[in-house]
Amino acid sequence: MISVYANIPQKRDGSLGMAAGARHKLMSREAKLRANGLLDMLYKPSEIARELGIEKRHIYGRLIPSGMPHNKDRNGSIWIHGPELAAWLRTLTKKRVPLADGEAYCMRCRKPSRIVDSKRVRHGALMLLRGKCNKCGATVNRGVKAR
Ligand SMILES: [Zn+2]
Repeated sequence: MISVYANIPQKRDGSLGMAAGARHKLMSREAKLRANGLLDMLYKPSEIARELGIEKRHIYGRLIPSGMPHNKDRNGSIWIHGPELAAWLRTLTKKRVPLADGEAYCMRCRKPSRIVDSKRVRHGALMLLRGKCNKCGATVNRGVKAR
């Protein structure tokens, strides 16, 4: 049984009790642009904070409660997939389109695509679902919950 981010209960509809319009202030424009340079790999929150120039406590206090895609390994450590974070940040100013089951963010197409020929690959304490983009054939990765 594979469970992916989308199966983790999260408030994805913005129903966080925040004032309307507050959502776009989750991240500065500069930090969002830097997020587009994140690599197709898993980052620790401290690494994301350094890459984006934000406070680590902002990740725990605001971003994760707001539905930022992340994954917990068996030790309870949080890992963040670069392209998925970048895609999520772009949705903050647009309509939110979370990745559906069986989808991954394709770096080449620059949008979510369906994973084909997927297999599970161990990455440290984490499991990745690795396959190919159904549109362009590029390799795509998505974190899955380690069991
Ligand atoms: Zn693609």
